[in-house]
Amino acid sequence: MRTPFIVGNWKMNLTLEEVDSFLDQITNKLPDSNQVECAIAASPIFLETLTKYCKNSPLKSSAENCFYKDKGAYTGEVSPYALSEMGVNYVMLGHSERRKYFNETNKTVNKKLKAVLQNHMIPIICCDETMTKQKTDDHMDWVVNPVAESLNGVSSKDAQNVVIGYEPSWAIGTGKSASVSETQEACCLIRKTIAELYDEKVASKVRILYGGSVNDKNVQELMQQKDVDGVLAGTASLKPKEFLKIVNYSK
Ligand code: 13P
Repeated sequence: MRTPFIVGNWKMNLTLEEVDSFLDQITNKLPDSNQVECAIAASPIFLETLTKYCKNSPLKSSAENCFYKDKGAYTGEVSPYALSEMGVNYVMLGHSERRKYFNETNKTVNKKLKAVLQNHMIPIICCDETMTKQKTDDHMDWVVNPVAESLNGVSSKDAQNVVIGYEPSWAIGTGKSASVSETQEACCLIRKTIAELYDEKVASKVRILYGGSVNDKNVQELMQQKDVDGVLAGTASLKPKEFLKIVNYSK
């Protein structure tokens, strides 16, 4: 059984005051983590506040990126070791904004992923169909390369805990989400890819999420799809009321 997983991705938004107020407003209103697991991905500046809050809440914390080395002369980078020490649970890797603005590639995602696993955190790998030019109407080859390259050299024991996000960049921040059938098709293809790379058992354990203009109106139908285990919400995660409606989608 895969526990549904809802992740809010704050990106580079919110102020410390807004973060405090957000956390205040969601207190005691999140679902039981055995029913629906919830996490917030935040900038490193807010992770200390977030991880402290998470100690007394079902909420989990996620970083939005990290470096692949634990320490050293890498000015401005974020150490996965330090994130783990702080109590961060998840690290998002390869988000389309990281690929677009910071030249993140599957190769760097792979290095970062290994560093995240080594530091006992769980990676959330994001992939987007514009990452390869191979997409055609009847064959979604695009997903195979990013998933295979990101997981290169990762054991099945580790791979089964990895979370994968299908996030078409044309759906991010546009208010135009992928259709339910497109989403199911892509998530199913990701699961098949995992089965080919590893086996059916690993594929049945990996949680696959959809991200791109998720809101309180479309979340329920997306969550009903067989291979969609959760969602990544950006814009809709910035307001506590909207975030609460999304995480409580089944009520
Ligand atoms: P939006 O929900 O704003 O489309 O952003 C999605 C996203 O990037 C989640 O990682």
